[in-house]
Amino acid sequence: MPRGPSQPIVYLVDALEARRMLWLFCMACGHSHRTHPHTLARRGGGLQTLEQAAGKCRCRRCGSRDAMVFPSRMNFDGRG
Ligand SMILES: [Zn+2]
Repeated sequence: MPRGPSQPIVYLVDALEARRMLWLFCMACGHSHRTHPHTLARRGGGLQTLEQAAGKCRCRRCGSRDAMVFPSRMNFDGRG
């Protein structure tokens, strides 16, 4: 059964099932970029929350680990 847009995305697998890209947002400098949930799931698997996945990311621009992950409204093509 497909998930509706109101389904909360808590885990990386939720984003994969909903085929949603994720925003990675740096709280320190404001740098953000869109990333595939599979990219984050490679480090630690899909059964981690977006918050836990964010804790493993380092900002490309300023090097801060103070990051947030948000689901994007954009779908990925499903090949990831
Ligand atoms: Zn940054």
